[in-house]
Amino acid sequence: MGMKIVFFSSQPYDKQFFTQYNQQGYELIFQETHLNEQSVKLAAGAKAICVFVNDKVNAGIIEQLTQMNVEIIALRCAGFNNVDLEAAKAAGIKVCRVPAYSPEAVAEHAVAMLLTLNRKTHKAYNRVREQNFALQGLLGYNLYGKTIGVIGTGNIGKAFCKIMLGFGCKVVAFDLIANQELMAAGVDYQPLMEVLKADIISLHCPLNEQTKHIIQKDTIALMKKGVVIINTSRGGLVKTRDVIYALKSGHISALGIDVYEQEEKIFFKNLSEDIIQDDEIQRLMSFPNVLITAHQAFFTQEALEQIATTTLNNIQHLTENTNLIAQAALLT
Ligand code: NAD
Repeated sequence: MGMKIVFFSSQPYDKQFFTQYNQQGYELIFQETHLNEQSVKLAAGAKAICVFVNDKVNAGIIEQLTQMNVEIIALRCAGFNNVDLEAAKAAGIKVCRVPAYSPEAVAEHAVAMLLTLNRKTHKAYNRVREQNFALQGLLGYNLYGKTIGVIGTGNIGKAFCKIMLGFGCKVVAFDLIANQELMAAGVDYQPLMEVLKADIISLHCPLNEQTKHIIQKDTIALMKKGVVIINTSRGGLVKTRDVIYALKSGHISALGIDVYEQEEKIFFKNLSEDIIQDDEIQRLMSFPNVLITAHQAFFTQEALEQIATTTLNNIQHLTENTNLIAQAALLT
């Protein structure tokens, strides 16, 4: 039996893809529970643990992992805002991620959300099933010629910009570093204040101290009345209460979110029999012009293949010290 890796927050599709791509013959143990102070004990005997977006890997958990001689924390995702990297570094635990498994998967989902909200296909689908073939209430607009503001033009933002340029949109972007290839393709880099004036705003920057609540009442005040906001990045980029207020006033005409600040209590679970205690998500769900998907932007065949192979290769390279791990994959 090969080296033991314990997975937290695992779903049936994780088991399917990781088992299929386990060329290394590792012993893969799939736990459904999130990683927390209690469940961390399940990592006993493992050299590596594998976690996902809503597993909070804080200093306390890292201390427990150290005591159990866990050497590697492998994130099977791109974002890493949920891991205390300093604590991991101090403990000598290696942290790796999947830097770019399929940026197009997320970018295409952002576009799907935008098109759905604009052309109201979510409503049309239900109407036609009820034999209601009327069009009143389904009026959309052409994306062609509209200005799309993109915040963060890394792997995903870049793929998103390219699709929007293909639609014939004007793309304005804000990032700490301008991407030369995108500039040559026609993307116009502007300060954040300018990008906020676009017709549609899509968020593709990571969640960190600078970007937390980048969308809140003061930044919304700079936006056009009727702005559309799409967030497929991280829930914490948006201050939910302020967005609800702006939806009620009509300042925001549509909102598409694949991520939500308090998502860890809700997403990736079937809660259809439960009473949801989170009033903000319930309020968001009640708007006809809000589309919520439960962190599924990454969820394509290609992305899951890439996530499984890259994560297993990362672990292999770290344990064998082969130095083949991609620079962007290694976080400590
Ligand atoms: P990336 O690292 O390739 O790109 C992030 C970009 O944001 C970089 O160009 C960086 O310079 C820029 N940036 C950093 N700080 C900024 C700031 N303060 N203002 C503006 N731009 C800033 O990452 P990526 O692969 O494109 O992923 C982006 C984010 O998407 C991830 O951090 C993750 O949170 C999220 N994500 C979501 C899903 C999903 O399924 N919904 C899947 C993958 C990634």
